[in-house]
Order: sequence, then C-alpha cells, then structure tokens
Amino acid sequence: MEYTKCNICDSGESVVLIDGDYKYVRCKQCGLVYKNPRVPEEEWISSLKESARENAGEIFLEAEKELFADIISKIDKKRAPAAVNIKLLDIGCGYGAFLALARLRKGWDVAGTEMGIQAANFVRNVYGVNVYQKNIQDMNIRDKEYDIVTLFGVLDFFYDPVNELVEIKRIIKADGLLVMRLNNGLWHLNLTRFAWPLVFLKLFPAVLHLYVFTPKSVKKMLEKAGFESIEIYNSKFTKGDIYGTGGPLGRPFVSTAKELMYLLSQFIYYISLKNIVIAPTMVVIARRRV
Ligand SMILES: [Zn+2]
Repeated sequence: MEYTKCNICDSGESVVLIDGDYKYVRCKQCGLVYKNPRVPEEEWISSLKESARENAGEIFLEAEKELFADIISKIDKKRAPAAVNIKLLDIGCGYGAFLALARLRKGWDVAGTEMGIQAANFVRNVYGVNVYQKNIQDMNIRDKEYDIVTLFGVLDFFYDPVNELVEIKRIIKADGLLVMRLNNGLWHLNLTRFAWPLVFLKLFPAVLHLYVFTPKSVKKMLEKAGFESIEIYNSKFTKGDIYGTGGPLGRPFVSTAKELMYLLSQFIYYISLKNIVIAPTMVVIARRRV
C-alpha cells in the first residue's frame, strides 16, 4: 500500500471519513475525498488487463445506451449538431457502449483507449473502432487534435487525475469539449456513512473508487487543470441492475428505485435553480481555458 497527498492542493492534512477495510480521507484545505492508503498503480493496472466479464459488451450496451444517447444530445446542444469532421477520443472506453452510438453520427471520427485486452478487442472487432491500448501520454498526440474527449466512469480511477486532465486539455481544440460521467460523492459517501441498514440488508448501492468527487470538488479539479464553463448535470441511470446492487430484492426493485431517484434528483435540480446535483452519477461538460 502507498500513501498519497491531496491531488488538487498537495496538502497532506486530512480527516478520516471512512475507516473500514478501506480508508477514505477528506482534504482539510480543499475538501477532496480520496482513498488513502491505496495499492500502487502498477499492481492495479495489471489486475485491469486480466479482468473480463462474460457477454460484457452486450450487457453494457443494453444498460447504457439510453444514458449515452442523453449525453450525445447534451453534446449537440453545446456544438452545432450538424458539425462535421468531429474527432472524438473516448478514454477508458471499456466495452464501447458509448462508441457504439457515437460512431454512427455523421461526420464523427471516433477512437478509444482501453487497457483491458478483452474489452479493447471487443470494440475493435464488433464496432470496427480503433482502440489504443495505451495511456494518452504514450500516444504522441498533437496539441489540439480532438474536438471532443470523453471519460466515462474513468476520472475517479486515475492515480493522478489533475495531471491526466492537464494532458487532456493539451489535446483538445480551443473550442473543444471535455465530457465526463462519474460517480457523485454526495450520494455514494453519504450512503456509505449513514446507510448501514441497507448494507445489513445486503444491498450495496454505494461505490467508492480512488477518488470520491462531489460536484464541488470535480469543478475545483477541472479549474486547476485549465478548464472553464463547467456544467454539471444529473446523469440518467443504467438500465436494470448490472452491478447486482439490489442484492436479494433484485432487478425490478432496482429499476423502480432508479426511476424514482432520477425524478427526485431532477426535481431538486430544478427547484435549486440548477445548483444541486444529487443523483448517484453526474455528467460534467467543460471547455478548455484558451
Ligand atoms: Zn486538497
């Protein structure tokens, strides 16, 4: 295990938030929540290369196509929908559910990066999309190469997210967009801390990775890395119960709960004049500061 400092402000001063099998701390200076200590990066990367799930490609596409269609419509609102020659890179594309939709857009030239061997091959073979099995730092990408860079379920897995975002900023065009979907700590942290009865019922709806971002801390990090015009939305949910979070109550319970949660989150979003984003996952869209 290795110990780390705050990725945003480099402060080592923190308070312990969750003290169990894994320990999560909150930076006293900026409020960023992160896992400390953590397994070294090389160890994690090698576990990633081996991980595979049967029929994962089909399962994820079915579960995520609706929420990705929603994200594409948000992108269209930020750009001229008819714009052609759009170069897009999806970092950590997994089994390519987003790329499966994005590649069908007229004029969009899409590619992905993915360390998982099975996942990368699936995207290449089934969708015919180019996938690099590399970090973007090792790809010799020119400055301002991409119109859109996407990160879905990826930012909170990075060991040094600020550095990754600085590199992403470099490869995005002046009028380009960074689009992300990631877990919302406002939901997952509170659930982990206060929902022990759910855990007792063998329901595990909380997911914590290396970092636990809230709308506030992700905004701070993006600003530090050189982004602006940052907008944060409630994300639509995945369909069904692909991660088995519903435990013995199963899929129908989870589906209904998700629909209610989304409606409630949207209600809070609008009555707070778009200030409070509380859904378990959030969509973040930002522009590079030129
Ligand atoms: Zn900090």
